Amino acid sequence: MRDMNAARKAALEALTVEPLSGTDQLPATRKPLKMGLKNWRVSIGDDEVAWALLDKKGASANTLSEGVIRELDKILGELKKTGVKGLVLRSAKTSGFIAGAEIGDFKAMRDEVKIADRLREALGVLDRLEQFPAPTIALIHGFCLGGGLELALACKFRIARSDARLGFPEVLLGLHPGLAGTWRILRGSNPLQAMTLMLTGRTLRAKAAKNAGLVDALVEERHFEAAVAAAVSGRLRQARRPWYAPLLRLGPVRRLSAWQMRRQTAAKASPEHYPAPFALIDLWREHGGSDAAMRKMETPSFARLLAGDTAQNLVRVFFLRERLKSFAKGAQSGVSRVHVIGAGTMGGDIAAWCAAMGFTVSLQDRESELIAPAMKRAAKLFKRKLKIEADIRAAFDRLVPDVRGDGIAGADLVIEVVPEDLKIKKAVFKDVEARMRDDAILATNTSSISLEQLAKGLKKPERFVGLHFFNPVARMPLVEVVTHAKLAGDARARAIAFTHAMDRLPLPVRSSPGFLVNRALTPYLQEALACYGEGTKAETIDAAAERFGMPMGPIELADQVGLDVCLHVAKVLKRDLKGPAA
Ligand code: NAD
Repeated sequence: MRDMNAARKAALEALTVEPLSGTDQLPATRKPLKMGLKNWRVSIGDDEVAWALLDKKGASANTLSEGVIRELDKILGELKKTGVKGLVLRSAKTSGFIAGAEIGDFKAMRDEVKIADRLREALGVLDRLEQFPAPTIALIHGFCLGGGLELALACKFRIARSDARLGFPEVLLGLHPGLAGTWRILRGSNPLQAMTLMLTGRTLRAKAAKNAGLVDALVEERHFEAAVAAAVSGRLRQARRPWYAPLLRLGPVRRLSAWQMRRQTAAKASPEHYPAPFALIDLWREHGGSDAAMRKMETPSFARLLAGDTAQNLVRVFFLRERLKSFAKGAQSGVSRVHVIGAGTMGGDIAAWCAAMGFTVSLQDRESELIAPAMKRAAKLFKRKLKIEADIRAAFDRLVPDVRGDGIAGADLVIEVVPEDLKIKKAVFKDVEARMRDDAILATNTSSISLEQLAKGLKKPERFVGLHFFNPVARMPLVEVVTHAKLAGDARARAIAFTHAMDRLPLPVRSSPGFLVNRALTPYLQEALACYGEGTKAETIDAAAERFGMPMGPIELADQVGLDVCLHVAKVLKRDLKGPAA
């Protein structure tokens, strides 16, 4: 290795081992360094630039766990001793750089002092990364979120590929950045844009991140090495924050902007139920003028939030969602063509959602005029969800109006979404069963009729399953996968895999009255309507529920679901559970 003094050369050679095989893809110009690490692979090139590849053990995506941070500290210590000309941090996972902090580490952390202590240890490592004697470069592809972005912000350079996505989603877990992200991002970019990013939890695409000053260079994979060489040799310019950025951090401007942020945030959430954005705004208002003060106050504020009920509940929700997703693990739905019968409120939206998610969909109703409104709604959904013109057009091509039901014969899955009436549904099944493939799945979106009743008379009840979507389909992530005694295990697994494949959360439930959601929801709505019947104003009832933390009051919700639908479900529950009068 050129230009290296004998001692440094000896020290590096002592760490050098044989190249790793298989997935490592180490270029011939770099040699691996032996450091006894579980999650990182470190190598050094002829140019004396060290590459630390994060490949978290046993995970498909990298997260920033305590183990990962401790090992990074070890890498920094070793390389500081030996001396290198530059240090590159990159991910070995195809999914991206680092998806965020290890949320498992947040579970049941209720002691603010302990949280702050653990944070300080990690903060020390990021400080050592920032103060590393040679240029440090984060090479970013895919997701670079939360703790991942905080790590990248502690590097001198951030070089990203066009598929990079950067953001601070902490607020969605009831938190704000806690590994020095709040002040490092304020220090380096337009502070108002930085605050918006943290307050909304929004993710920026690579180009937008470059415009916001979070990324110094945007290059394709094949130019990564050259970009690293430019960064190490001082030829790459760091992104500059706008000249007026310091002015935005002055006291009066901060107070005014904080007031505006608070007003906008309060329109969406209450400080009592959702303290995180308000805590961040307070930090900005009180301390945003000084890096040192932000740095000092971020830790206690984060610790308070993490120890609080909101964050702990949202962490629990995160794991519940993960559990629902895990039901689909390892299973293949075998579904690419979906036929939907009934283009009303639910059927139209289910068909549009499936098309938006990449499935080929035929949509049937009794007359083409009845399908037209669903197609109009689909156009709006595609625009909102897919944004890119070519993707919108492709989704439209995948969604076909089909009055005669020609799509049934080729469908892998047929979903019935006709009115909640046993006779109508049975007539539909009779027609469909005669025309659908033997290996296709038949599903119903019924909200209250038992699957056993519906399955009676079916030729193949073993492939008949409930897929109970909620209204509005595009906004409600849960889908109840309703099972019954005759359902085959394979069909159940395929229905769950399909739900996951269309980016919804599968909740397997038995066919019992109200399934799960309506069983819990209906008594709540009934109670609200009973209060209304006794003379309490609708507004008073809804206001009380919203104060309690519900996103919408029960009267407004009942109105949105449809009073006829509510009444129907309530009657079914009353009949089947012998409950109080509807
Ligand atoms: P809807 O009345 O809006 O739509 C039903 C559609 O089915 C209509 O367009 C109708 O023309 C069509 N239809 C009737 N008979 C048909 C046939 N033989 N062939 C083809 N199409 C036919 O009803 P909806 O609210 O969409 O409810 C549909 C199903 O979804 C019901 O089982 C309901 O319980 C369930 N569901 C509704 C909601 C909701 O909030 N509305 C939520 C979850 C589940």
